Amino acid sequence: MLSITNMLFNMQILDGIATSNVIKSRIKQEVDALVQSGKRRPHLAAVLIGDNGASLTYVGAKVKACEAVGFESSLIHKPADITQEEVLGIVAQLNADDRIDGYIVQLPLPSHINETAVLLAIDPRKDVDGFHPENVGRMALNLPTFLPATPYGIIQLLEHYKIETSGKHCVVIGRSNIVGLPMGILMQRNTYPGNCTVTIAHSKTRNLKELTLQADIIVAALGRPEFVTGDMIKDGAVIVDVGITRIVDETKKSGFRLAGDVHFESVSAKCSAITPVPGGVGPMTIASLLMNTLQAAKG
Ligand code: NAD
Repeated sequence: MLSITNMLFNMQILDGIATSNVIKSRIKQEVDALVQSGKRRPHLAAVLIGDNGASLTYVGAKVKACEAVGFESSLIHKPADITQEEVLGIVAQLNADDRIDGYIVQLPLPSHINETAVLLAIDPRKDVDGFHPENVGRMALNLPTFLPATPYGIIQLLEHYKIETSGKHCVVIGRSNIVGLPMGILMQRNTYPGNCTVTIAHSKTRNLKELTLQADIIVAALGRPEFVTGDMIKDGAVIVDVGITRIVDETKKSGFRLAGDVHFESVSAKCSAITPVPGGVGPMTIASLLMNTLQAAKG
């Protein structure tokens, strides 16, 4: 475990790589046990439309992670000019295919495809991304369901590091359906991690700094590189950086570097714990998707 000391606290890095490796090795053990008992391997399918660079990278990482834990995986990659009917046809086939335990439709979809219609067509029992309204409703009511992978990953990271959450003020910056909104719901639930007083901030929030200065926990999920700076946080806050933005960087072989939504240098000098980018929330998201797929396979 990495640990960096700042001037005020023994500041902790919330290491998503190490934590996700612990989760993945547990999953692998369960898969081995399933196979030994004569059951088939869990099978995750991913639908990818078009050639968006980031989406290709994410889906590639998900397929690789499946191999690492012993899952079967299938990639259904279609060109960006596919019709809505064709996408719905693929979804119907995946719903009907008994060999597929769970699947994801990688977002964003091309603009001519109605995302909501596609999400609604997914069988909620195979919706391992947890985006179907039925599963979102179950999450809100604290019923068993598939939790959306990124917020679920954050919850597991907070749990792994035994971060205290009860009675704390959590400010979530961003209200997207896949990160900010579910994160707010999970942090206020009557469970651990949870029991926070939650504020959800968004692009129309006027007094953001006033709010973040009161926060014990900040989840930054707005997609603006290095937006949260040291002057916006109080001493000892716990910082979760969800943002991943590619920034042009000629010094890198790839030509870009990944930046989070938090200005690491100034924030890490004041906070008590922080997720790095990369190596924080990203790997936890993938581990959570695998957890959901295992759950779907177990029925
Ligand atoms: P999004 O664009 O759908 O939503 C951004 C949200 O931020 C919106 O609700 C908007 O109201 C809010 N916002 C924008 N500007 C703001 C401002 N100035 N002040 C306050 N709120 C503001 O983005 P998303 O899909 O939720 O993703 C957010 C970031 O997280 C992106 O960088 C994305 O790449 C990253 N992400 C990472 C993972 C991961 O696994 N690490 C997963 C999903 C998303």
